[in-house]
Order: sequence, then structure tokens, then C-alpha cells
Amino acid sequence: MYNSKSMKAEEFICHEEIEDTLAFADENRNNKEMIRQILDKARECKGLSHREASVLLACEDPEVLDEMEALAREIKKKFYGNRIVLFAPLYLSNYCVNGCVYCPYHHQNGHIPRKKLTQEEIRQEVIALQDMGHKRLAIETGEDPVNNPIEYVLESIKTIYSIQHKNGAIRRVNVNIAATTVENYRKLKEAGIGTYILFQETYHKESYEQLHPTGPKHDYAYHTEAMDRAMEGGIDDVGLGVLFGLELYRYEFAGLLMHAEHLEAVHGVGPHTISVPRIKRADDIDPDTFDNGISDEIFAKLCALIRISVPYTGMIISTRESQQVRAKVIDLGVSQISGGSRTSVGGYTEELRPTDTEQFDVSDQRTLDEVVRWLMETKHIPSFCTACYRAGRTGDRFMSLCKSGQIQNCCHPNALITLKEFLEDYASAETRAIGERMIKEELLNIPKEQVRKITEEYLVKIGQGERDFR
Ligand code: SAM
Repeated sequence: MYNSKSMKAEEFICHEEIEDTLAFADENRNNKEMIRQILDKARECKGLSHREASVLLACEDPEVLDEMEALAREIKKKFYGNRIVLFAPLYLSNYCVNGCVYCPYHHQNGHIPRKKLTQEEIRQEVIALQDMGHKRLAIETGEDPVNNPIEYVLESIKTIYSIQHKNGAIRRVNVNIAATTVENYRKLKEAGIGTYILFQETYHKESYEQLHPTGPKHDYAYHTEAMDRAMEGGIDDVGLGVLFGLELYRYEFAGLLMHAEHLEAVHGVGPHTISVPRIKRADDIDPDTFDNGISDEIFAKLCALIRISVPYTGMIISTRESQQVRAKVIDLGVSQISGGSRTSVGGYTEELRPTDTEQFDVSDQRTLDEVVRWLMETKHIPSFCTACYRAGRTGDRFMSLCKSGQIQNCCHPNALITLKEFLEDYASAETRAIGERMIKEELLNIPKEQVRKITEEYLVKIGQGERDFR
């Protein structure tokens, strides 16, 4: 029998069920009664199944679309408020043995320089990121057991956490490296990583095998079951994602939600985050050769539907997207964005944005200060908070906090405190002025008086030079 609990991820997220889901969605795309019931269920904030959500995705009625988007905004506000967490990617090495046809780091690409940062170079990169104000990083490498073995990744994480620069250290290191063994995931857990992120790229097995013709990543089952191994190794915050543009978006959307259902059924906790990358131009890669690219409108619809289908899962958007697209999807459900990113190995210590080792074109090229200011001008609170992870509130403990509705008494003050640190230490005068006004106004939105008072005390202490309250 089809049972998410007893099946492996690869068996559960199977082609037949996805095809059947898409046919069901097509049949019911104009079924007003069913759509009404699904929207009513979504309004209870308990999420939707892949079948239900796929019906909404197939529906093209503009009124229903408006209602979905309004609901996504409401759910976003309820669980995440107006806070946006900021992070930056840090590329350690572009050595790679895989043949992913959409990625410039693919093994056969002979005209990009291959580069791997030494521990000293990592130090310099991290200091450059800290000088911008970053507290949360996502490290990225190609897959290469000789040049980037797990020991290199572990040593790099240790280096990153050890750098005390000006006002403290990087507080959370998320990791986006290729699928690996339970033993290696255990080592990553012991090294103190935050979220383990791995994009599925595509859930369409046949396409997956064609898109990854050579190298260890060719193994679809091994890749698809990576999150189960990560959880077995003790990592309870995992981040899913597909690379939109490779396959039909409705197929990917159903696969993504099934993956989330699988994790919830087997491990008792769904994904911590979902990323929504779209394929971009890069060296040796022309996105036009992938004919499944999606419009900005469909992209926004997908983001809204992810928000209402998995209300407790954070959503991440990178600088692959332009300012305009980011503005739209932030309101529809995105909770984390990168800022001031460079996607090249060693890019942060260069004066000008290097392009020779870049993984993809960066659309949003603003500085972190500009992104922070823009967020505040559009009524969002930029947050550098890492408190949950540091207090051990990961996996189901984070989900409980989210579900309890206590986020406004917990995450809201933390966002204001970490924003204040940013304003004091890194912001331009203009950003600082806007930020100080925002903090004053947003203090009033902390529901509990006692929490508000403590927050005010912390803000005063930060003004006097204290940092990093725990
Ligand atoms: N090497 C690791 C792996 O195999 O999963 C992960 C690191 S890779 C640097 C991060 C992600 O970048 C990939 O999972 C892929 O989805 C994305 N990516 C690769 N090429 C891209 C492109 N041309 N445009 C946008 N994103 C791309």
C-alpha cells in the first residue's frame, strides 16, 4: 500500500503518484466546490496535501489566484510577522566531479579557473562578510572527494566559527554540499551546523539522470534519500529546494510537497526551509536551452502556494532574483533572503565583483546596507537573529514555537535586538536613521509588556557597546 511512513523517499515521491496528482488537478481545476473546500482548509493554517495544493496550482481563475495570494500574505504575517532573516552564501571551492549540465562548475567545463580557499583565505572572506554585518552564512562547495573531502568542510566550519572579529563571530553556518553518508552528516552535526540544505534539482527521475549524466550525483535514489540520512545523522533542520526551469513546474511542485510530507511522516518534522531557485545564465550555461523556465507570475503563484501548503516551513530566496521579484515574493511568504552575495570562490575579498568563478549571474547586486534599508523602507524588519538554533530550538522544537503563536514575543524582540547591533556597527547614516525609527515603532508590537521592557533594556545596553545577548 502507498504509505508515506514505511516507504523510502524515492519510492514515496514516485512518478506514477505525481502524474496521477497532475491528472487529478487538471480534472478539478474548475471544480469550484472542491477549490472552495481546499481554500477553507488552507485558512486553518494546517497546510495542504500535494494533491490539494496541485489543484490550486492548476486553477487559473483570477479571483481564486487573488484569494490564494491574500491568504499567503495573511499566513506569512501570522507566522513570520514582517521579519526577514538575512544571510550570505560563502563559496569554498568550485572543484567538482559531477557533470550537472546546468551548472558551470561541471567537471567538463575546462575554461573556468578551479579554486579552493585555504583556511587563511576563508578567514579573509569571513572577515569581509562580518564587515558587512553578516551573522549567518551558507557554505557551498562542488562535490569532489579529493579536493573537498568532508574533513575540508569540517575544518572550514571550525575556522568560520572561531573568527572573533570586531563584535563577535558568525553565529550560524548552514551547509549546502552534495549528498553524503550518515556518518558524514553526524560529523556535520557535531561541527555545529545550522540547516543542511540540498536542492533536489528535479523530482523527475528520468530527467534527473539526463541532467546529471556523470559523477556520484547521477544516483537519483542516493540524492533523494539524502535528507533521511541527514536526519538519521542527527541533523534536524533540513532545507529542500528544486531548481525551477529544469522540468515542468507543476511536476516539481507536487514532488517538493511530497518530499515534505515524507519527512514529516517518517521523522515527525517537515523541512525547516524550502528554497526556490530558478535557473540562471552562467559560464558555459545558457538557461534558454532549458525550455521549462517559468514566468515571474507563475513563480509568485508557486511561492504563495508553498506558503499556504507548508505554513511552518521557512522560505528562502537568493540574489538569483531581481529586487522587483524579491519584493513581490517576500510579501507572499519568503522569510529569509541573501544580501550582498557573491557567488564566486573568494569573491568577498575582491574589490570588484569577480565573474570568472561565479556560479551564476547575480540579479540583485545591491550591498547588504542597501538591502537592509530597502527592507525597512518597505516595512520589513531585517533580522540577523540566530537565537533558535543557538538555544537548541531546532527541528520539532522550532516547529512547536512556530505553532504556539509565541513568535511575536520571541522572534520579534530578537529581530529588533540584532537589527540594533547592525545599525550600531555596520549601517550607513541613512540606514541607521530609518532603522532607529523602525525599532521605536516596532517595540510597540511586542505583545507582552514584560518582554517589551527587557527588549528596551537590551537596546540601551547595545547602544552602550554590549553585544550578543544569549
Ligand atoms: N554541489 C552541491 C550539490 O551538488 O548539491 C551544492 C552546491 S551548488 C553550489 C548549489 C546549487 O546551485 C545547486 O544545487 C543548484 O541547484 C544551483 N545551481 C547550479 N547551477 C545553477 C544555475 N546555472 N543557475 C541557478 N542555480 C544554479
